[in-house]
Amino acid sequence: MQKELDKAYEAKKYEDAIYKKWESSGAFTPEVPNDTKSEDSKKPFVISMPPPNATGQLHLGHAIMLALQDIMTRYHRMKGDATLWLPGTDHAAIATQNKVEKLLAEKGISRHDLGREKFLSEVKAFVKESRATIKNQVRKMGSSCDWTREKYTLDPEMSVAVNTVFKMMYDDGLIYRGDRIVNWCPRCASTLADDEVDYKDENAKLYWIKYGPFELATTRPETKLGDTAVAVHPKDKRYKSMIGKKYMIPGVLGDFEITVVGDEAVDPEFGSGAIKVTPAHSFVDFEIAKRHNLIVKKVINEEGRMMENCGKYAGMTTSECRKEILKDMDKMGILLKVEDYQHKLSICYRCGTSIEPLTSKQWFIDVNKKVKRLNNKSLKETSLEVVKDGSIEIIPSRFTKIYYHWMENLRDWCISRQIWWGHRIPVWYCAKCGEIEVSGTHPDKCKKCGNTKFKQDEDTLDTWFSSGLWTFSTLGWPEKTKDLEFFHPTSVMETGYDILFFWVARMILMTTYATGEIPFETVYLHGLVRDKNGEKMSKSKPETCIDPLEMIDKYGTDALRLSMVIGGSAGNDIRLYEEKIAGYRNFINKIWNSSRFVLMNLDEPGSKTLSIADKWMLSRLNKVIKESTSQIEKFNFSEAGTLIYDFFWSDFCDWYLEISKGELKNPETLMFVLETVLKLLHPFTPFVTEVIWGELDKKTLLINEPWPKADKKHEFAKEESEMQRVIDVISEIRKIRAEYKVDAGKKITAIIYTKFHKEFESLSAPIIKLARLEKLEIKPLTEKAKQENSKSIFLPYTEIYLPLSEMLDLEKEKNRIKKEIEKLEKDVAILSTKLSNPGFVNNAPKAVVEKETILLQENEEKLKKLKEEEKTLS
Ligand SMILES: [Zn+2]
Ligand SMILES: [Zn+2]
Repeated sequence: MQKELDKAYEAKKYEDAIYKKWESSGAFTPEVPNDTKSEDSKKPFVISMPPPNATGQLHLGHAIMLALQDIMTRYHRMKGDATLWLPGTDHAAIATQNKVEKLLAEKGISRHDLGREKFLSEVKAFVKESRATIKNQVRKMGSSCDWTREKYTLDPEMSVAVNTVFKMMYDDGLIYRGDRIVNWCPRCASTLADDEVDYKDENAKLYWIKYGPFELATTRPETKLGDTAVAVHPKDKRYKSMIGKKYMIPGVLGDFEITVVGDEAVDPEFGSGAIKVTPAHSFVDFEIAKRHNLIVKKVINEEGRMMENCGKYAGMTTSECRKEILKDMDKMGILLKVEDYQHKLSICYRCGTSIEPLTSKQWFIDVNKKVKRLNNKSLKETSLEVVKDGSIEIIPSRFTKIYYHWMENLRDWCISRQIWWGHRIPVWYCAKCGEIEVSGTHPDKCKKCGNTKFKQDEDTLDTWFSSGLWTFSTLGWPEKTKDLEFFHPTSVMETGYDILFFWVARMILMTTYATGEIPFETVYLHGLVRDKNGEKMSKSKPETCIDPLEMIDKYGTDALRLSMVIGGSAGNDIRLYEEKIAGYRNFINKIWNSSRFVLMNLDEPGSKTLSIADKWMLSRLNKVIKESTSQIEKFNFSEAGTLIYDFFWSDFCDWYLEISKGELKNPETLMFVLETVLKLLHPFTPFVTEVIWGELDKKTLLINEPWPKADKKHEFAKEESEMQRVIDVISEIRKIRAEYKVDAGKKITAIIYTKFHKEFESLSAPIIKLARLEKLEIKPLTEKAKQENSKSIFLPYTEIYLPLSEMLDLEKEKNRIKKEIEKLEKDVAILSTKLSNPGFVNNAPKAVVEKETILLQENEEKLKKLKEEEKTLS
């Protein structure tokens, strides 16, 4: 006797226990062959999980990436590949520091009150707790990742990797310290990478200033205090003769000297064609200054305030200074006019504060310098090459172009951050002579002066510096570990398209440099999750915000996973809302209920030979295995899921199970199909399938079962089309029954004339049952006789007749049609008269005439149909 499953599936009752079973069984941990280089050590399948922030809460962005990566991982594991999905958590430098600073601020404490060490231990304590939380939330999604290899971006061995790469780059001359212009967030008190800058439209003002011999326009008059030049286009006739000359410009703090330079970067069409150059506070101006060796004069400091060299404005914020300077310029009569101006304001992506471009001493990575390690190519060239030559494929391919564009325009990467939480820059300065030593630990002795006292650089590294090493630092690099040898390069990097540049591009840059290998073969970019109306979910519209954990609690993880995977495709955003998840919960219930049905019916006797229906089912199953496998291989997860979903719901449940009731059943085939489809479903809905598998009295776990293979023995093309014809017949009869609103319990007669009468006869039992027939006559097409008062259905080489008298009350129907015809004839007559009257046609508004003409046509059409129907009834 088979077990009886619970009446209804309650995800909550099973999921955590099933996950524990998987994890403790070791199913997530792949075997590494003894000799990783041997011929028969098959290529493994590897994904490095994009590490969620250690302080984060599981959100939909995590949920979708975990679902997709778990599908790939489970599929490859079942396929027999040594499969590693390596999980981790990220220390999320700025985000975490901000969070802890906020918590401290509530107690009125700043990080400087605590000092570096105490502050860091506060952060550590905070992270320790939240890290455990996020890890359990990753488990909630059913993620079959190898926790024995879990990494945290601040693990000591990660620091070793970070310091090693830093030293390699420093020794290769790729890392340098320099006064460069950077994006500075005065709020976060830190630099930001170019792609960490967001933009928002702003209604600003354009101020026209009398500027010595020039008139020019600026949006930021306060930066005038840092001007050292005026730039014009070299071919601009108006200014050509002035290029190279110096001028004294009357200003609010007295006269100051500028040089006029000719530079291609100036747009002669903008404003007056002359621009003031403030090298220390504008990226464009900084570049101009470099090209012409101009003086760089910094006037705004890291707090966003005017510096001491700004006379009476010193200490003011930039906006205070702007107000004052405008007043003073007006008084002097050099403020000519003010215009409204639309522009894009750069803001910090973390806190929204407007960015202050300023020069400061920072560490940079030179992306253009050619180095020996890269065969005399630069980081930029190498990163472009590995995508161009196809070593790395980006899915969807339209992002490849965007990648090229971004990489081609990459500027030197500023890697120092003025925060404490993160990898501290491994640079030491000799306390005596200032000599620089690069080392992860305190150097013993200064190479230059022999001094033993050093001070470490105060800054930390950009978070992307360390996460750029993620695919190989997690596998033990720089040690030559077996893991590194076997699992690197990894197979797939799966992440949101919004992070392509932040992270994916930097992994390519750092990995090709440090290891000489690509980090991964395929980049799969998923879309963003949006609300029902396709809009970004936001906290200001809480009703549209979906909390994945709440949904898991309500509908189960499997339903949430399906609702995010089916209907999605690479690079395209997906809509998610509660009803959708609830809908997929119905499917999960369907899996449960139909399995329950199979289990309850297995003990009854049945057939041992394969019927047409059995053969059809096996043949269909074969096709679904082939097609869904090929779709998964092509990264079309939605297509694969839909194929399996439709097969299960329609072919298996609606047809095969219905046919398999009673004596028509073949228990062995029924069981085989159920087991196979559970395997196909497993990567998509791991929990419910594993629970059912356990109830089948298997000694194994479904997670370890081999992925189904199509079997030539199960190809039954002839029976497949035979059964399909029967399905078509039943579906057509059902359609007519619905059309005539025939009561579900009522049985009717069907007469079928067909070329396939023999096979139809052998399947008459399911036809009678599923079409709800009282009587079924099947005759060869050659014996066709006229059927009066019947509804006819025409299929290829098959005609079906359903006597109308059984489906409706003939007299009543005749009357109804008669009355309707009378009414329509009247309407048609009235409309025709109206429309043949030139007085109406010529005088009425055109739209009215058109409307009436259409109405007449429609009524005539209806009338024609009703008359035909009347004929069939008589
Ligand atoms: Zn900020
Ligand atoms: Zn020294």
